[in-house]
Amino acid sequence: MVVGKYWNKKIETMPVEELRKLQLQKLREQVKHCYEDSAFYRRKFDGVGLKPSDIRTLDDLKKIPFTIKSDLKDNYPFGMVAGKTDQIVELHASSGTTGNPIVGSYNKNDMDVWQELVARCIYTVGGRSQDIIHIAYGYGLFTGGLGLHYGAQKIGAKIVPASGGMTQRQIKLMKDLGTTIVACTPSFMVYLAETMMQEGIDPRKDLKLKKGIFGAEPWSDKIRERIEKETGIEAYDIYGLTELCGPGVSVECEEHHGLHVWEDHFIVETINPDTGEVLPPGSEGELVFTTLTKTCMPMLRYRTRDISRIETSKCKCGRTHRRLARITGRSDDMLIIRGVNIFPQQIERVLMSFPQVGRNYVIIIEGLDDMTIKVELAAAGFDGQVEHLAALQNQLIEKLKAETWVRPKVDLLPAGSLPVAEGKAKRVIDKRSL
Ligand code: ADP
Ligand code: ZN
Repeated sequence: MVVGKYWNKKIETMPVEELRKLQLQKLREQVKHCYEDSAFYRRKFDGVGLKPSDIRTLDDLKKIPFTIKSDLKDNYPFGMVAGKTDQIVELHASSGTTGNPIVGSYNKNDMDVWQELVARCIYTVGGRSQDIIHIAYGYGLFTGGLGLHYGAQKIGAKIVPASGGMTQRQIKLMKDLGTTIVACTPSFMVYLAETMMQEGIDPRKDLKLKKGIFGAEPWSDKIRERIEKETGIEAYDIYGLTELCGPGVSVECEEHHGLHVWEDHFIVETINPDTGEVLPPGSEGELVFTTLTKTCMPMLRYRTRDISRIETSKCKCGRTHRRLARITGRSDDMLIIRGVNIFPQQIERVLMSFPQVGRNYVIIIEGLDDMTIKVELAAAGFDGQVEHLAALQNQLIEKLKAETWVRPKVDLLPAGSLPVAEGKAKRVIDKRSL
C-alpha cells in the first residue's frame, strides 16, 4: 500500500468485523441519545414499544421506525434537534429541489465531524495541501460550497471560494492561479468546459486542472466521459445530503468503482421503496441512512428517496467501507408517463451518447402525458444541412423510445438557447402537476 494514500488509514482500512463492532457500539450510544434527548424519537420508539436496550445487534436496527422527509418538514425548524437549541452553531437548508426547505442544525461536534468527513473525501480523491481547490458549488444555505470549503481547509489546501456564476471570470481565475482541483455540480462543469472551448482555452494546455469533485445531482457515465474527454481531468463522484451533514457521506476512490460510504459515521441500508422491506446488498433500492456520530440532529433510518445499490465486493484501493453504485436518481424524480416509469437519467444517457448533442436539455411533460425533449446542439453540432438535422431528430426519437418505451417529441435548439442553472440543473418541467 502506498504510504500517505489514506486520510485516516486505521479507520479507512479497518477489518470489516471491527468496523461492524464499532458501528454497533456507536449505534447503541446514538439510540440512547435519541431516546433520552429527543421528544420526536421517544414518541417513535414508544409508538412501537421499543426501548434503546432492545438494540443489541446491528440487525436490530430493523426494529427502529423510518424517519422520512415529512418528519423534518412537520417538525420545522427545530423539532428534530435532540437536546437544547442553544447547542446549534450553524444552520443549513436543502436547496429545495423538491418542495419546502429542510433545515439542518449542527452543533460544534457535528461541524467537526462534517469537516473531517469532507477532508477524508477530498484526500481520497487525491487532494493534498499543495493543491489549489476551486469551489464552484454555491456558498450559503446549500451545503455544497461551505462543506467542500471546510474539508479543503482541514487538508490545508489553497481554497478559491468561487461559488456560482461569472463563468468566464471563474475560468480566468483557474488559469491565472494554476488551479489543480475543481469542485462543482457536473452540469456546471460541462458548462465550464464548453465555455473554455468557446474562449479558445485548452484545459489540457492552458490549465493545471487534474481532478474534479462532482456531485449534488445525478449524472450519467456519459457526462463523465464527456467531461474527461473535453478537459483531460479525472472526474470523481461525491454524494451527500443536508439531512446527514451535506457532502461527505460518500465518495469515489481512484478505482472509480462506486462511492465508499464512511461507515464509521453512517449505517447504510437499501429498502424496497414501496414496501419498506430491507433488501440484500447488491439489489437496487432506496438508500436509508443512520447517522452514528452527529448529535444535534441525529437521523435514525432516514429515507433519502435516492436510488442506488450497495456493492459489497472488496475495493482494490484497500478501503473496507462498502460502496454505493452511482445514484441513479430519486424515487420522486421518477416520471410516470403513460403508465411507464422513466428516470430522467435514462434520457440523459441517450442524449449524451450523440456527439452532435450539446450540454443542456430539458424534459417537458404536458397534456395527456406528452413528453417533449428540448435539447441543444453542440457548438459544432450543426453543419448547416437541414436534412442532417431531421435525421438526427429521428435517430434521437428512436433511441429514446427504445430506452424508455415512450415516443417523445424532440426539439433541437442552437447551442446556448436554454437557461443554464448555476446550482443544480432543473431537468424536468412537469406541467401536469402545475
Ligand atoms: P435537495 O436537493 O433535496 O434540496 P440537498 O441540497 O441536501 O437537497 O441535496 C441532496 C440530494 O442531492 C441527494 O438526496 C441526492 O438526491 C442529490 N445528490 C447529491 N449528490 C449526488 C450524487 N453524487 N449523485 C446523485 N445525486 C446526488
Ligand atoms: Zn476504493
